[in-house]
Amino acid sequence: MKTEILIIGSGPAGLMSAYEAASKGHDVAVIERLDRPGGMAASFDINGMRVDYGSHRLHPATSKPLLKILKDVLGEDLQIRNRNGRIRVEEKWVTFPLSFTNLIKSLPPKTVLSLFKDSLTSPFKQPKEETFAEHIKAGLGPKVFDLIYGPYAKKLWGKPAEELHSDLAKKRVSASSHLEILKKLVLSTMRNGQKFFYPRNGYGQICERLAEEAQNKGAKFFFDTEIDSIDLSSPNHAITETKDEIFESKRIWSTAPFGSLAKMLSPSPPPEIIESLNQLNYRAMVLVYLICDHKRLTEFDAHYFPETDTPISRISEPKNYRDTSDPDDFTIICCEVPCWEGDEIWLASNEELGDLMIESLARQGLPKINLLGTETRRLPKVYPIYDLGYKEKFEDLVDWSTKQSRLTIFGRQGLFAPDNLHHALSMGYAAANALQPDGSFDQDFWQSSLEQFQTHVVED
Ligand SMILES: Cc1cc2nc3c(=O)[nH]c(=O)nc-3n(C[C@H](O)[C@H](O)[C@H](O)COP(=O)(O)OP(=O)(O)OC[C@H]3O[C@@H](n4cnc5c(N)ncnc54)[C@H](O)[C@@H]3O)c2cc1C
Repeated sequence: MKTEILIIGSGPAGLMSAYEAASKGHDVAVIERLDRPGGMAASFDINGMRVDYGSHRLHPATSKPLLKILKDVLGEDLQIRNRNGRIRVEEKWVTFPLSFTNLIKSLPPKTVLSLFKDSLTSPFKQPKEETFAEHIKAGLGPKVFDLIYGPYAKKLWGKPAEELHSDLAKKRVSASSHLEILKKLVLSTMRNGQKFFYPRNGYGQICERLAEEAQNKGAKFFFDTEIDSIDLSSPNHAITETKDEIFESKRIWSTAPFGSLAKMLSPSPPPEIIESLNQLNYRAMVLVYLICDHKRLTEFDAHYFPETDTPISRISEPKNYRDTSDPDDFTIICCEVPCWEGDEIWLASNEELGDLMIESLARQGLPKINLLGTETRRLPKVYPIYDLGYKEKFEDLVDWSTKQSRLTIFGRQGLFAPDNLHHALSMGYAAANALQPDGSFDQDFWQSSLEQFQTHVVED
């Protein structure tokens, strides 16, 4: 099959690139190894209730052109919601996103005093080293680090914050100084709380609608399709082989993990690139869905657990994310449990995980759960780990990839980025906008887009 652009992956990044390129009249085909679009931002049904792969919300930080596209494709189904979460700190609940009054009311006076002292001294501090730990301690103070970010880093990335690069803190902590926290608090108070967008039929509706619209504009989708090889040796086109089809394309846009892509390529990337790839690691996650014999467990959308007294990093109650006709007689709690692929958590049975979650949540002061059943999903590559030597390896990869005239790499997995959905969408949008009406690809525009992607900061 001949196509102008072959896109690998139908997660948000691949879908937005397909939608936008097809809208501009380009000939596009999308290969996806799963049987549905959406990647990590998809939804699925448990007992007739839509659930997501962990807590997902569309943040108002989404750029105007992207938000316009999403509003156009989702219409009235894109609901505006008030955030209503809590974070567990020192065995107390604090509202999250934070509020001044609640913070002072909820935490012990000694803790509040330490936080206040840090807020006075930290504007004068500079990080001593380029580590996650130093960046947070200098920006937010040692108390916030000890209470929240130190243990949270260990839980999410499986390494002490002292062994993680400061870039991770810059990309992952949206308010990394007291001034920024203050700005957020003031804005939130002015706006009567923080808002987010969420589609009526689950977060996955964003990608389902984008895929439908891309298809309406002519994009062809190949689901359940594994790639065997990609041959880039011809100066005129790339040849991609799958079990059922051979694709001849002018360009390949890949949102697959860089490491798995490299194994398919011929000619293969040089040994030093393969070596760098082998050293870039991801943390995995098991999602444990507790089907609960309660109409609702709590009124909150998400609960965050930074401390290490539970393996859970966050729980969410999908019913509380949307206004829709969810089943009334039960609710579902989705527990996010970061782990390593192949460790005890990864290999545990549904029953073992269900018991572990119930016992762990009871210790966190949540209502006792009457469990009807447990389902699980496993994501092997969730959080890219920025260890202290990651930067050079990552830059080598990007350098190599930008020299490939037919191959363009982007997306959360492609660019080893801990990004939000709106960032992944913006990468796809940029790729489509680098494409010129005559089919050429504007490398200067793409280079400046890659630099811009480095400034993405994740919203929690
Ligand atoms: C627990 C959790 C919570 C999150 N919460 C939020 C949130 O609240 N708000 C937010 O904005 N973002 C959130 N995110 C981030 C968001 O899910 C991602 O940014 C987004 O899904 C990334 O899109 P992507 O297209 O780059 O990658 P992916 O979603 O990973 O999609 C990649 C696609 O490529 C396919 N693929 C991979 N390899 C191949 C191959 N060889 N051949 C064919 N297909 C292949 C995969 O199957 C997948 O469909 C969260 C993520 C997680 C894990």
